[in-house]
Amino acid sequence: MKEAVTDRFGRPMQDLRISVTDRCQFRCSYCMPKEIFGTDYAFLPKQELLSFDELEKVVKIFAEKGVKKVRITGGEPLMRPGLPELVRRIYAIDGIGDVGLTTNGVLLGHYAKELFEAGLTRVNVSLDAIDEELFRKMNGQGVPPQKVFRGIETALAFGFQVKVNMVVQRGVNEQEILPLARYCKEKGITLRFIEFMDVGNDNAWSYERVIPKTEILNILSEKYELAPVEKDYFGEVARRYKYGDSQEQVGFITSVSESFCSSCTRIRLSSDGKLFNCLFASEGRDLKQLLREGASEQELGDFITGNWRDRDDRYSDERWEQRKSGKKKINMSYIGG
Ligand code: SAM
Repeated sequence: MKEAVTDRFGRPMQDLRISVTDRCQFRCSYCMPKEIFGTDYAFLPKQELLSFDELEKVVKIFAEKGVKKVRITGGEPLMRPGLPELVRRIYAIDGIGDVGLTTNGVLLGHYAKELFEAGLTRVNVSLDAIDEELFRKMNGQGVPPQKVFRGIETALAFGFQVKVNMVVQRGVNEQEILPLARYCKEKGITLRFIEFMDVGNDNAWSYERVIPKTEILNILSEKYELAPVEKDYFGEVARRYKYGDSQEQVGFITSVSESFCSSCTRIRLSSDGKLFNCLFASEGRDLKQLLREGASEQELGDFITGNWRDRDDRYSDERWEQRKSGKKKINMSYIGG
């Protein structure tokens, strides 16, 4: 068993989130608003993205340093050509016991078989509404939700464990809480409600638009009986509840109303190879440059360890003071959710 590296607050580096592309088909206003990510937006050129060889090399080093879980995200990770091959390579790395994928589900039906054969067993699908008109509007590109439903159904048919993530925004999609809960419960899917977060600088975030966990729970309680479930492990982010009449669960990601910085064990690697210690960070440390300058595994390992040992980020605990400082933050589509 590898001993995990700990940061200044004793938090172990356990989970690695890799953004494999900064591109996405959607233009959700809270993540990649059309006005900013328009047709002339300069996405990263291919050579700036870490290659699969580079990613494999880096993940091996993270595994040496105690990371056990990897999540592949984006942008939209399934837009990265050949993604199942990367999944296969990451699975083969000694020490990595768990690989997950976060996707908008549009290409999931197409890739489900290959992903399953590559070893993937879990996917998180983002779905903010099942009402067709609202979903088309929210994704900014008029994509119908049926595409995502098909992706989910294909994944379920292959035996994937599917979770659905819904970002809830006041005045936008709170009326979808109960319909989505019903849809997921019927399909045996865990639904996780994500509080609308002030990631990045471009999503017109305001506290008034955040619907906190307690309010979502009240809405669910109109229809369902729910009981809290104990956490499974240190660093588990979702607060989970179980339905009274079935084994299904719902979860809450409460970054705004109940921050969980004290148990945050996540390190993030952006698509262009920078390390970020927090979703709300403004700067990353350039691992790609080091890699491409020919650094040895020892040097790369020392860089990764040194970065984590220095870590003192706790943005969600300090949100209100930090917001006053007006510090720039990086966008979610670049760093990955
Ligand atoms: N394209 C993939 C997807 O749609 O799941 C992966 C990347 S996306 C950035 C990852 C997750 O971040 C999605 O569930 C998305 O809804 C969530 N997200 C993006 N911006 C957010 C915000 N401001 N607050 C809360 N969640 C957000």
